[in-house]
Amino acid sequence: MNDESMKYDCQVIQDLLPLYRDDVCSDNSRRVVEEHLKECHNCSSIYEQLNNTVMDDKLYQEMSGVLEKHAKMERRHSVTVGITIGLILMIPVIVCLICNLVVGHALDWFFIVLATLLVVTSLVVVPLVTEHKKALWTCLSFSVSVILLLLVTCIYSRGDWFFLASVSTIFGLSVVLLPFLAGSISFPKSIRKQKGLFIMLWDTFWLYAVIVMCGFYISMPSYWKPAFEITSISVILPWILFLLIRYTKLTGLTKAGISLILFGVFAPIISDVINYVLYGVPNWTIPHADLLVWNNDTVNSNVYLLILVVFVTVGIVLLIAGEWNRHGKRH
Ligand SMILES: [Zn+2]
Repeated sequence: MNDESMKYDCQVIQDLLPLYRDDVCSDNSRRVVEEHLKECHNCSSIYEQLNNTVMDDKLYQEMSGVLEKHAKMERRHSVTVGITIGLILMIPVIVCLICNLVVGHALDWFFIVLATLLVVTSLVVVPLVTEHKKALWTCLSFSVSVILLLLVTCIYSRGDWFFLASVSTIFGLSVVLLPFLAGSISFPKSIRKQKGLFIMLWDTFWLYAVIVMCGFYISMPSYWKPAFEITSISVILPWILFLLIRYTKLTGLTKAGISLILFGVFAPIISDVINYVLYGVPNWTIPHADLLVWNNDTVNSNVYLLILVVFVTVGIVLLIAGEWNRHGKRH
């Protein structure tokens, strides 16, 4: 066999190798391949490699199969535990249902027990039986059941505080939980890139809702104006910080520097600004500071002055560091 025909054969053989390996070629082809592999070192080593990768593939498939099976078993196991706990929780529900009917001839405090157990269920059973977005479903069912508990307790005690309590609860839970849950919420495509903005708007809305509910609850005409003024002044700083951090193209150090300076200026004067807006008389606290004298007259002023100086100084240092960094990178 000369080199030319050998090369041609090699190509044909190498094309046939996968079929030969899977044992799906004709008898004739198999014989040709087997004969060629005996003679040709090159092709037989290619065949070996092919077999090795097949072995790797098989091993990999088996391994991921085992892992998958294990994960499935774990899931089934936790669902079983979840359902069992759910059934156990049904026992007090039934006992209380009967007791309430027998003793009170009606269902009233039973609903409090039921709502309380729903809160427990949302925290214990829901994370066990849900497969995807555990945290989201747990927080959602927890929030709903807490509000339900507020409702039945309010009805049972003939209170008029349900809306105030539930709106405050939604506000508090939103502020604490939403930043962590944002990742697992499927936002509509149009606002997906504006998650932060959406959360800020949502929190601000509920903050004002709390203020409105308080207004209805205490129903004093003099409440509304100062309440809205104080709230609006107080949300300015969080909004400025959010817009600065989220929407400007500054470096991290520069953002941190500006944020600290803003906080350092804002925090010590906010109560003075609110007082000024409410009473129309300017009465600034910081000018009364005297760091050598610490008594009832100066302690507020001194603390405010220290906050101002420390935060603004650290902020300026960060700004300089940021500039330095940018300068250094350019060269
Ligand atoms: Zn060959």
